[in-house]
Amino acid sequence: MWQVRGHDPLLRQLDKSIKEGRYAHSYLLVGPPQVGKGTLAINMAQAVNCLSPEQAPCGQCSQCRRIASTQHADVLVIGVGRGEDDGPSRKEIGIGDVREIERQASLNPYEGSHRVFIFDGAERMSEEAANALLKTLEEPPPQVMIILLTSQEGALLPTILSRCRRLELKPLPFSEIAKELVETHSMDREDAEMLARLSLGCPGWAISAAGDPSIMEKRKEELERISELSVSGLEERFSYASDLGSLFYKDRDGARDILRLWLRWWRDLLLIKEGAEEYIHNVDWSDVLRLRAAELSTAQVVAFIKVILTTLEALDHNANARLALEVMALSLPGERTGG
Ligand SMILES: [Zn+2]
Repeated sequence: MWQVRGHDPLLRQLDKSIKEGRYAHSYLLVGPPQVGKGTLAINMAQAVNCLSPEQAPCGQCSQCRRIASTQHADVLVIGVGRGEDDGPSRKEIGIGDVREIERQASLNPYEGSHRVFIFDGAERMSEEAANALLKTLEEPPPQVMIILLTSQEGALLPTILSRCRRLELKPLPFSEIAKELVETHSMDREDAEMLARLSLGCPGWAISAAGDPSIMEKRKEELERISELSVSGLEERFSYASDLGSLFYKDRDGARDILRLWLRWWRDLLLIKEGAEEYIHNVDWSDVLRLRAAELSTAQVVAFIKVILTTLEALDHNANARLALEVMALSLPGERTGG
């Protein structure tokens, strides 16, 4: 059974091509973070290895279960992940990773019928690594499937894109995510709707937040800081930029997530300024947002949204993170005489 929620037409098409043996050997799964790309890729690895082809991916056979528990020797996920023991996070998927995949791809599957290589965050592949991977994408061995996952399709080489079958996972309607949370995670409706709205249509985030209260707790702390910095002096702003820069060094995705919270906060401010409060994301913060919006002009809000976007882009391109974040801190409108 496919575990990915929503995306029904895409799943029907994929299911059919796998059952008929007409699937591609290289796929590109495109969609925002936590929309379900990773779950789908694991499901695809199960589907081609499943011992019950009629029900593939059955989720019950030894192949499906070992793949789900990441113990299967033929299914490998390659990504940058987080740094170990406070060390720096890996910046990219490098040539060494691709060479190792090439080596493994040339061997027969060890315990299943297909070797599946999943590149999580394929946009982080170095150019050298991407060029090396092209060869395998052009002539994949018959029992190999390569799945690239990305939320930034534009950052991939066109030559890579042209060799993959593209599947796009769009954000799901909030109502669908809320329903799922009520039915399978026994949440009450009000909380479920709140999480669904905050998830921006990405069920992975909503389900994690439903099962782990620390996610909402952390969000609350981050939003408190974002809100306070709007009325703080320069010193606090620089100290914040410095903390975020250190986080970026250890955990790039974590730091990016915080910047996305900034973006959402400022987007909400803009919606309030423009009289469209019903569309804000941080509904539980609407009182504070209204107060902050009253202190700013629309032009200031728009200008700062552009600064956040530029900062995110700089971080994506491996620019000097601390400098980019300091520029952002300096550009924050509002009170700053205290610093
Ligand atoms: Zn199975």
